[in-house]
Amino acid sequence: MIRSVSILGSTGSIGRQSLAAAERLGVRVTALAARRDIRLLEEQIRRFRPGYAAVYDKDAAARLRLAVRDLPVEIGEGLEGLRRAAVYDCEAVVTAVSGSVGLQPTLDAIAAKKRICLANKETLVCAGSIVMAAARQAGAEIVPVDSEHAAVFQCLEGRRDQLHKILLTGSGGPFRGWTRAETASVTPEQAVRHPNWHMGAKISVDSATMMNKGLELIEAMHLFGLMPDDIQVVIHPQSVIHSMVELVDGTVLAQMAVPDMGLPIQYAMTWPERAASPYERLDFWKMGELTFQAPDLEKTPCLALAMDCARRGGVAPAVMSAANEEAVALFLAGRIGYNDIYDRVAEAVARVPGVADPTLDDILAADGEARRLMTER
Ligand code: MG
Repeated sequence: MIRSVSILGSTGSIGRQSLAAAERLGVRVTALAARRDIRLLEEQIRRFRPGYAAVYDKDAAARLRLAVRDLPVEIGEGLEGLRRAAVYDCEAVVTAVSGSVGLQPTLDAIAAKKRICLANKETLVCAGSIVMAAARQAGAEIVPVDSEHAAVFQCLEGRRDQLHKILLTGSGGPFRGWTRAETASVTPEQAVRHPNWHMGAKISVDSATMMNKGLELIEAMHLFGLMPDDIQVVIHPQSVIHSMVELVDGTVLAQMAVPDMGLPIQYAMTWPERAASPYERLDFWKMGELTFQAPDLEKTPCLALAMDCARRGGVAPAVMSAANEEAVALFLAGRIGYNDIYDRVAEAVARVPGVADPTLDDILAADGEARRLMTER
């Protein structure tokens, strides 16, 4: 179990639950970082007393510096601040920022041999080969917080060499089975209301389009060293099984628990040990049916696109992920429709040229180009 932690994205849903877990487990919080919500960040600083806090937005950082001038906390800003927070006086870092902005701070923390409690899936989607190679080289632990990957991670403990394939489960989101004509008028309010999980806005929209499952498939490839076709997406609307592994002899192991992100967050901090938790327990007498089905790729084109980008490799996943971030932001701002998310992302993937075996610079350039395409029209 870790004794100290830095939390990147501390004002978001995962960040707030990470602070709660740290408090419960007696883990010291050394640094916090947020995009711009300085009201909540100030509350967190006063409660947890970190030595360092970073705000991505520079004007907000200046306001926070004034607000907490009575405390011995240093306030950083921008990407530099985020990078410093990632390595600040800690054993582990929770990477809970949203989007590819998490990439460089994660690489910094890996180089400094911190445990990565990985909640930022875009980091592995963009640059999985580079990040995993860096972690192997530095001997840094990566413990996934994403519930599906946490499930696979737990099923594989002590038996990594017996893995045959991963069964990546997903609820199918709030619009499971809807046709393109039916999703045309979906509003941001409808899209962020997930039936089983309480999550931030970006990931809730990704869950609705099933881009989230596509991003998770790419994340799983890198984390567990598999090819895209060794990962089978299984729709499981009840979200009781969080994912499964099939071993070489055909045995399938599943990890189950109530759908609450607090659990994988806590496990990433206590691993390889476990601690008591305050969460609800599964009651198999009351559970009813658990059901499974194949995804309908016609009705979830974002998932189909992600599977295609996973097979293509190179910068394709980074372009897709960056374009998706921009498209989801436009949708949440009411500037494009729900079906435009797929259309815009597919267009960006088609237009940004591929690069085989990309360097970090190639990936960042492709990410930037995808974003430029999305915002210039
Ligand atoms: Mg997940």
